[in-house]
Amino acid sequence: QANRVDEAAPGSVALGYKHDASKVDTKKFPAYAAGKNCANCMLYQGKATDAWANCAALGNKQVAAKGWCMAWAKKA
Ligand code: SF4
Repeated sequence: QANRVDEAAPGSVALGYKHDASKVDTKKFPAYAAGKNCANCMLYQGKATDAWANCAALGNKQVAAKGWCMAWAKKA
């Protein structure tokens, strides 16, 4: 889908974004911890049950519920 963010785009690489959080490079991005993902991030613009939703940190493109990037912040 055209609206999905490209993992290889410079903005994604800079934030360490992966569609599958288990693929995050934890050497470069030690902030990642198991259980953190887009679905429980405050920047995820969908319901936690949506598989994909927009994210302002990645140009308002769609990110995966199971994804992660270093801009993650716990949903209140
Ligand atoms: Fe996912 Fe949050 Fe990063 Fe957006 S800011 S890509 S919702 S972890």
